[in-house]
Amino acid sequence: MKILIADDDNVSRLLLHRLLNRWGFDSVEVADGEKALEIMRADDAPELVLLDWEMPKADGPEVCRQLRLMDKAVPPYIIFVTAKDTLFDLVLGLDMGASDFIRKPYKQEELRARIQVGIRTIALQTQLVEARNRMEHLAMYDMLTEVYNRRAIMDLFGRELSRCAREQHTLLVAMADLDYFKKLNDQFGHATGDAALSLFGEILRNNTRKSDLVGRWGGEEFILVAQVKDADDLSLFERIRLQTENSVLKFEDKSVRLSVSIGITATTGGETLEKVLHRADNALYEAKESGRNRIVFNERQP
Ligand code: GH3
Ligand code: MG
Ligand code: MG
Ligand code: MG
Repeated sequence: MKILIADDDNVSRLLLHRLLNRWGFDSVEVADGEKALEIMRADDAPELVLLDWEMPKADGPEVCRQLRLMDKAVPPYIIFVTAKDTLFDLVLGLDMGASDFIRKPYKQEELRARIQVGIRTIALQTQLVEARNRMEHLAMYDMLTEVYNRRAIMDLFGRELSRCAREQHTLLVAMADLDYFKKLNDQFGHATGDAALSLFGEILRNNTRKSDLVGRWGGEEFILVAQVKDADDLSLFERIRLQTENSVLKFEDKSVRLSVSIGITATTGGETLEKVLHRADNALYEAKESGRNRIVFNERQP
C-alpha cells in the first residue's frame, strides 16, 4: 500500500516517512498542495493520504475538496494530520471530504491504528466496486458468447441510432445467423452447439472494434452494429463470414465445420430500431434462401 504524505514541514514529513517505512508502507512525499494533487491525478495514485492543513499553493482543505471532485472509482482515504486543533477545524476538515482527522503532535500508535482503519475501508470499497462491475457485466453480457445480451444490444443500438441521426453518420446493421445449427445440435449434441456459439462469439469479438456493437439476439442469431465512413464497404462482414467458414470445431474424433449467413442494411437514423432490424432480417432471409454461407446487402434506408 502506497501512502501520500503532503506536508510543507521537513521534519514532519521525514518523521512520517520513517514511521510508514517501519510499518511496511511505501510513501511518496510532497511539500505543497499542488504537488499533492498532481500525484493523485496519476493512474497509480496512492489510495491513502496523510494531509497537512497549512501548505503553500493549495492548503489541505482545498486539496481535499479537489480530490473529492476527481471522481475515482475508489475515492482516496484522506487523514488530516494537522496542528489545527479546534472543533471548528475538525468539523470543517471532515466536511471538506476528509475521512479522518488527527491532531499534531500525535501518538504513533494512534496514527498506525487509524491508517489500518483506512486500509480496511479501502479494501471494502474496492470489493464493492468489483462486485458492482461483476454485476454490471452479468447484466449486460451473454455468458456463453461474451457479447452483449439481447437487452443490452437493444438499448445500446437504440442510443446509437439516435446519435447517428444527430451526428449524421451511417450505421451498418447486420443480422448473422449460423447455418443448419439445429442439425449440428442434433448430430453432435448440445454441448458442441454451445462450443460453436462460443467460437462464433470469439470471431465476432476479434473482428470488431470497440466502437462497434455486437450482441446475441437469441439462439444462434447475432446483431452487429458498425459505424462506418463508407456504407458500401462490407469487408468486415465478409471477413467474419470467411473466418467462420474456415474455423474448425474439434469434437471427439470429428471436426465440425460452421458457416454463417449475414443480412446487412444501412441506416442514417430517423427511423425506428424495429424498421432497421426488419430490413436486416429480410436481407438475412434472402441470404438463407439463396444458399446460405453468404452476405446479402440489399436494402437501404428508403
Ligand atoms: P438455418 O440455416 O435456416 O438458420 O437453420 P438452423 O437449423 O440454424 O435454424 P433453426 O432456427 O431451425 O434452429 C436453430 C437452433 O439453434 C435450434 C436450437 O435448438 C438451437 N439453439 C438455440 N439456442 C441455443 C443454445 O444456446 N445452445 C445450443 N447448443 N443450441 C441452441
Ligand atoms: Mg504545514
Ligand atoms: Mg440458423
Ligand atoms: Mg435462427
